[in-house]
Amino acid sequence: MTAPGYRGRFAPSPTGPLHAGSLVAALASWLDARAHCGAWLVRIEDVDLPRCVPGTDRLILAQLAACGLHPDEPPVWQSARGAAYAEALATLVEAGAAYGCACSRSDIEAARAALGLARPRFGDLVYPGTCRAGLNGRSVRAWRMRADGVLRWQDRRLGAQQQDLGSAVGDFVLKRADGLWAYQLAVVVDDAAQGITHVVRGEDLADNTARQIHLQRALGLATPAYLHTPLVLAADGHKLSKQNGAAALDLAEPLSSLQAAGTVLGLPHIPAATVADWLAAAVPAWAGIIAAFVETTERKPA
Ligand code: GLU
Repeated sequence: MTAPGYRGRFAPSPTGPLHAGSLVAALASWLDARAHCGAWLVRIEDVDLPRCVPGTDRLILAQLAACGLHPDEPPVWQSARGAAYAEALATLVEAGAAYGCACSRSDIEAARAALGLARPRFGDLVYPGTCRAGLNGRSVRAWRMRADGVLRWQDRRLGAQQQDLGSAVGDFVLKRADGLWAYQLAVVVDDAAQGITHVVRGEDLADNTARQIHLQRALGLATPAYLHTPLVLAADGHKLSKQNGAAALDLAEPLSSLQAAGTVLGLPHIPAATVADWLAAAVPAWAGIIAAFVETTERKPA
């Protein structure tokens, strides 16, 4: 039985099997839901279909099940949700919050150069807003969200956060030139449709949060509470990922995988003979950890 109120989720992209890093986010979201007697959902984020590996969705669900992490409702696949994303985009366009953009990457580079803006060493090019004023007869390639101003939010672990949307990300893409829906729009529409009250995910996603809150406000949707978990780093110091050799979780060793993920989250060593015993003991330990986060983050200045 779950109490009404708290609804959390784990939202893997099926681009590869779960590994030690993604299990940390899965486990933290499950523990947080259980510690609040809430519901825990799984959403397969397969909007970027060309990057998805067929069969990986089922493999991830099997890996979660082997670790004793069973969703309380049937999983949702984003590839089946296009109509909801189209409706949200139409709402934003109608309100003047989103607009069609005709620029190619080289147009954006040229417009930035004309404004004297340097090419960033990392990350996407911030769009200089060329099509805000209209398309001048050109045809729409992508759809963008207007993004200005400083957005502040509170992370349950990281404390007070802020991002200047205009300079850090600019008018960001909602629907790509190849016709695919962008993660930012899909995640916001689905978190709202699934009634998610608490988002618990890896710290590498923290800098998406301001864009997502900006979209929630423009669509009149509630903003969930956010908690970003520590990352597992690979030998090269980068976040552990398929690209830098993360091994798929070994389905034969779920208990040791859970113990390793628990250590990353700051859980003490929990002696247990079974996955179920380990998870049962991990829930109160997690409740202690989040109580400590609250104390620390409340001391951090905004
Ligand atoms: N699908 C995203 C990922 O696997 C996670 C999205 C989210 O939790 O908001 O990185």
